[in-house]
Amino acid sequence: MMAKKPSGGPLTRVQLLREIGLSPQWQLREQSAVALAAPSVPVTLPDERCPAMANAIAAITELPPPPAATAVPAFARSQAIAGMSWEQLQHSVAACRACALCQQRRQAVLGVGDVAAGWLFIGEGPGAEEDARGEPFVGPAGQLLDAMLAAIGLQRGKDVYIANAVKCRPPNNRTPEATEIATCAPYLQRQIALIQPRLIVLLGRAAAHALLGEVGSLASLRGQTFSYPAPQAGGHAIPVVVTYHPAYLLRTLTDKAKAWEDLCRARRLMRTIQATGAQAAPSLPA
Ligand code: URA
Repeated sequence: MMAKKPSGGPLTRVQLLREIGLSPQWQLREQSAVALAAPSVPVTLPDERCPAMANAIAAITELPPPPAATAVPAFARSQAIAGMSWEQLQHSVAACRACALCQQRRQAVLGVGDVAAGWLFIGEGPGAEEDARGEPFVGPAGQLLDAMLAAIGLQRGKDVYIANAVKCRPPNNRTPEATEIATCAPYLQRQIALIQPRLIVLLGRAAAHALLGEVGSLASLRGQTFSYPAPQAGGHAIPVVVTYHPAYLLRTLTDKAKAWEDLCRARRLMRTIQATGAQAAPSLPA
């Protein structure tokens, strides 16, 4: 959804920044390219499809009520998910009862956007509006995310895919627990493997936790370029950057300028990737 002028036409970039409260702080400025150390991230993707895949997929899509995590051993479940098509993924997520979050959801929310996108944005989990509508980031935080995307020339659905660390709404919008993030991780990993994005932007600490593992404060993660090993993307590692979650920015206006810096850095990274065809994070400028 694009921000519109009262008259209905699209906002200019300057108007848009003013609209989301980022003007005049959100000014593009040239920075010298400094190569950042790119910590190697101990994230492992499941191996290629195993012979028992078809059976395991069937078992997952027909899971009984919780605690179903015990019904299909975690490894077999991960293996099955790692071989799913988009359609299978959609069905599996919709029917998933692998953790307690399924009990209070209206529907699971897989993600939205271009399944061949260069940009993948990952949030925390569906809120009330997302749970009702079945699409990520459609509430107030989503409106800010759309404005942030527009500010760097992006639009939901156009070369952009939006997903969440967990696919079901945590009750009262609480932060998902580590076990819930871990249980949902195979779905996120499969989404990444199918999309094969050129750059991943993690929105907030839960998303960072889901992809990078146990991590420190968000402040300590900003400004770094992580590397997500993606064996299914031809052995390339996908560069990963971390910034603040839009819901946090709605509460903490003073950090919007930092988020803008992060997005500008992400855009520079993407331009470098596009210009050089580079994929491996360590050779990319900050
Ligand atoms: N916050 C998130 O992290 N994801 C959503 O989809 C909505 C709000």
